[in-house]
Amino acid sequence: MCREDPAIRLVTHPLTGDSPGTLRRIEAHVWGTPGSGPKVYVQAGLHADEMPGILVARHLIDRLNHSEREGRIAGEVWVVPLANPVGLAQWTAHKPQGRHELAGLQNFNRGFPDLAELAAPLLEGRLTDDAAENLVLIRQAFAEALRNLPRANDTQELRLCLLGWSHDADCVLDLHCDHEAILHFYAAPARPADIASLARSIGAELVLVQEVSGGNAFDEAHTAPWVALRRRFGAAHPIPDGCFSATVEYRGQADVRDDLAAEDAARLMVFLGAIGAVRGEPVPRLGTSPVLPLDAAAEVFAPQGGIVLWRVAPGDHVKKGEVMAEILDPVTGKRVPVVSPTFGLVFRIELWRSCLRGQSLAHVAGNKVIRAGNLMSD
Ligand SMILES: [Zn+2]
Repeated sequence: MCREDPAIRLVTHPLTGDSPGTLRRIEAHVWGTPGSGPKVYVQAGLHADEMPGILVARHLIDRLNHSEREGRIAGEVWVVPLANPVGLAQWTAHKPQGRHELAGLQNFNRGFPDLAELAAPLLEGRLTDDAAENLVLIRQAFAEALRNLPRANDTQELRLCLLGWSHDADCVLDLHCDHEAILHFYAAPARPADIASLARSIGAELVLVQEVSGGNAFDEAHTAPWVALRRRFGAAHPIPDGCFSATVEYRGQADVRDDLAAEDAARLMVFLGAIGAVRGEPVPRLGTSPVLPLDAAAEVFAPQGGIVLWRVAPGDHVKKGEVMAEILDPVTGKRVPVVSPTFGLVFRIELWRSCLRGQSLAHVAGNKVIRAGNLMSD
C-alpha cells in the first residue's frame, strides 16, 4: 500500500523484499492539485546505475519546490528520483549491475503490463461518443486492471507501483543514460507537437520515433495502449492519444556533472512550462532536432574480438561504408575495420574498449528503414 504524507507531498511505496528481513521503498515527490492542469510524471533510475538522469531528477525536485513556493505549479507534477532501489543495490565483483534484475536477468525496463490487453474487457460496452469521456473511462480501466495484477516478487511490485503512479498522466518522462552518447530521446510519433516541444526545451540532438518498438518498455507502456484500443474500438468510439511519453537519454554514463544536471533540470522546467504544468518559465528556444525512425537506426557489430579503437565519437556523421573503428587482436596483431552500414549520425557507442566477436558496438541513426521486429537492445 502506498502511504502519502500530505504535509510534504511525499508518496512512499514499500518493497517488502523477496528475501526475509529486507525492506526497501520507492518515493515520489508530488506538487500541485489533481485536475488543475496536466499531470506530468517524471522518473529516473529505472536502470538503476544510470546516474545522469537521477542527478537531473534531484535538481528538478529543487526547482519544483522553488516554483511551488512562488505559486507557479499549474498542474500536477510527480518526480520519482530513484525508481529502482532494487537494481541500485545489485553489485557483483565491485561493479554495479542496474540494468537487469540478477535473479532472472530480466531487463528492468522491459515487460511492463500491456494495459490495452488488460483494460479492453473492462471497456466493452462502456465507451461513448465523447473522446474526453473515453479518456477518463480508459484511465479508470487501466487503474482497475493494475489493481488486479499479481505482485509475486519485488520486480513485479516495482513495475506495478511505478505504473500505478503514472498510468493516468498526460505526460511521462523516463530519464536514463546510455554508454557514451549525445542527448537524445525515444518517443512514439503520435504527438509531434510534444516531441518538438520536448526536443527544443531540453536541447535534444536527436529524436528516435517508433509507434511500437517491442519489449513494452516503460515509455511504450503509456503510449501503445491508446493505439491498440483505437484499433479495437476506434471505429465506433473516438479514442485520443492519451499520453505523451519519452525515454530521455541524458548522454553517457560518465556525463555526471552537477552544473550540467542543474542546466538540464532548468530545461526540463521549460518543457513543463510549455505543456502548462508550471507557470512563468521561458518559452522553449527556437530550432529543430533531427527526428528519425528507430527502425532506420543501424546497429554496428564487432567483426572480431579485441581492442576497440574508435575513429568516430557520438555526434559525428558517417557515410555508408566509412570506417568507424578498428578492432585490434592483440594476440595476432591483426586489425579489422568496423564500417558503418548506413549514412547517418553516430548517437551512441559502447563504454567498453574490449569486445567479443559479434558484439554490438554502436548505433547510427539514418533515415532509411533497415530493421523490423523488436527494435530494442536488451
Ligand atoms: Zn537505461
